[in-house]
Amino acid sequence: MHELSIMEGVMNMVRESAQQNGIMKVNKLKLVIGRLTMVLPDSLQFCFQVLSQDDLFRNAVLEVEPREVIMRCMECETQFAREDPYCYICPGCGANQVEIVQGRELFLDYYEGE
Ligand SMILES: [Zn+2]
Repeated sequence: MHELSIMEGVMNMVRESAQQNGIMKVNKLKLVIGRLTMVLPDSLQFCFQVLSQDDLFRNAVLEVEPREVIMRCMECETQFAREDPYCYICPGCGANQVEIVQGRELFLDYYEGE
C-alpha cells in the first residue's frame, strides 16, 4: 500500500530528527499532500494509527493539509484550479499546453514534540 510506505518514511524521518534533538514525545505532525500524488488523507490517518504505537508517537496527532491542483496555461498564462487532475485544457483559450504549478507536493511541514 502506497500510503503505508509514505507514512513509514515520514515517521522514520521524524524519529531520526527527534533523536538528534532530544525529543522524547511527538505531539503533532503535519503533512502537506498535493492531490496529484493520489495519496488519500484517510488512508494516511489509518496507517498513522497503526504505526504510532511506540512511546515516541503515542498520542501524537497527524494533521494532513491537502493542496488543490493548480495549472498554468503556457499560451495565455491563465492560472486555474482543476477538480479533475487529468483534464489539461485551459479554460481561457482552450490550449492544452499547461504546466502544473501546485499539486505534486508531498512533504512534512513540521512536527512538534517535547
Ligand atoms: Zn490559455
